[in-house]
Amino acid sequence: MPGEELEAPSGVLAGVEPVDGGFAYAPSRESTDIVTIRPSYGLFIGGEEVEARSGRSLTTTNPATEEPLAEVAEAGPEDVDLAVAAARDAYEQHWRDLPGRERAKVLYRVARQLQERARELAVLETLDGGKPIKESRDIDLPLAAAHFFHYAGWADKLDWAFANRTPQPLGVVGQVIPWNFPLLMAAWKIAPALAAGNTVVLKPAETTPLTALLLAEVLQEAEVPPGVVNIVTGGGATGSALVSHRGLDKVAFTGSTAVGRSIQEALAGTRTRLTLELGGKAANIVYDDAAIDQAIEGVVNGIFFNQGHVCCAGSRLLVQESVEELVLDKLRRRLHTLRVGDPLDKNTDVGAINSEAQLGRITSLVDAGVEEGGQRWSPPCTLPERGWWFPPTIFTGVSQTHRIAREEVFGPVLAVLTFRTPEEAVAKANNTPYGLSAGVWSEKGSKVLWTAERLKAGVVWGNTFNKLDPTSPFGGFKESGFGREGGLHGLDAYVTLGRR
Ligand code: NDP
Repeated sequence: MPGEELEAPSGVLAGVEPVDGGFAYAPSRESTDIVTIRPSYGLFIGGEEVEARSGRSLTTTNPATEEPLAEVAEAGPEDVDLAVAAARDAYEQHWRDLPGRERAKVLYRVARQLQERARELAVLETLDGGKPIKESRDIDLPLAAAHFFHYAGWADKLDWAFANRTPQPLGVVGQVIPWNFPLLMAAWKIAPALAAGNTVVLKPAETTPLTALLLAEVLQEAEVPPGVVNIVTGGGATGSALVSHRGLDKVAFTGSTAVGRSIQEALAGTRTRLTLELGGKAANIVYDDAAIDQAIEGVVNGIFFNQGHVCCAGSRLLVQESVEELVLDKLRRRLHTLRVGDPLDKNTDVGAINSEAQLGRITSLVDAGVEEGGQRWSPPCTLPERGWWFPPTIFTGVSQTHRIAREEVFGPVLAVLTFRTPEEAVAKANNTPYGLSAGVWSEKGSKVLWTAERLKAGVVWGNTFNKLDPTSPFGGFKESGFGREGGLHGLDAYVTLGRR
């Protein structure tokens, strides 16, 4: 049954004032009638939707309009217990012993079903999370399906994946994911775990549970056996109940460094394995010999993609002093053309901030940036009257000690610093407690490689940024966490390796 057409936020599109004789865009709104959002949702345990024993629920809201979308069950400790027990039963009774080729068939079905329902899932992702439809449609959904395809391909080849070793599944895995890429993070977590023969209990973020709940339907359609994937919705307390559950063999967490640290403390001394994918403060280094126009696109993509709600966002621009003025001039002109507003409009480049709390965090760090002496600049931009928004912002006059250069803003805010020599660029790029990603822009391949070798970051992009691929490992050093997701490395995180 088609859903109801939901209203656009008032006052959109903003930021469309044309510059240099450019032209304004007519609205091109994706219809919401492909999605049916029910008034309320239960938990997904043992292959079916069940009511929460806790009796509690939370409201999930459209951040672009502040309109409530649905009531979603809030799992308590008893619900988490049931979910872990269902996952344990499914693991011991059939999933771990199923031949890899049979698990592969199931995962291929999930991948194809995600493609089949891609438009519906993309619209729902945008409604619940505020990201532009062109991103959920062209990035989140294709990549989520690609992860299932990729790991479906591994499921029957595990015996050849690790030379002279015999991989065995770990057991039951608790997985906690954030709100910035809700469905994609679910795919990153579930696909390798299942391919290796584990079963899972997944907790989506409180502000973005709806695509995980629609994924539950997809899993049913794909005939994933009951209990192999369980989804418990709720807030931080639910996440805490899950990760501290003694029935788990592994915890996989993506989110803030603070919560990651508390999980590591809670699991210290237990037999539960842990991987953490945490925050970042990536440097995007632009040398004076770079193709500047391409670099500008990479800088814009690096920090304004998904409103900057990206752990690997290029939130620090390190530009060589000799081209600083040129780069800043081109960057400001490019920012004039970014369209901020209705996430469902296919023209929109920068959508809504995911939650009021996140908007508060961004605003307070930006205020701190001004207080500490940074110069703040945004293009002229009329933001919608309702919803949570933040204009694309750049800070110049930033020093390495400023909070805006050290802390993860997780919003559309770029701190610009300069350097003179490659050695200085490397030293400044590495001057952070984080180590997740970095970008290098230079015409010379040897310079890109020289720099990449010296950067302490799990992923370094050369003359590009934010390129994510299921075959390629992703993960951090230092306070960005440990463990890798994607590719063979991502599979390694879900197996024990015995000797042949
Ligand atoms: P959190 O780390 O709190 O959220 C990530 C996930 O962990 C959510 O599902 C959350 O649930 C859950 N969670 C919260 N507390 C606990 C706990 N004690 N035990 C287990 N799970 C828990 O991030 P925030 O949403 O608070 O964002 C704060 C900051 O974190 C951002 O400004 C950003 O800097 C960073 N961040 C980084 C991400 C990354 O990908 N590296 C992703 C998200 C945030 P719930 O959301 O329901 O409370």
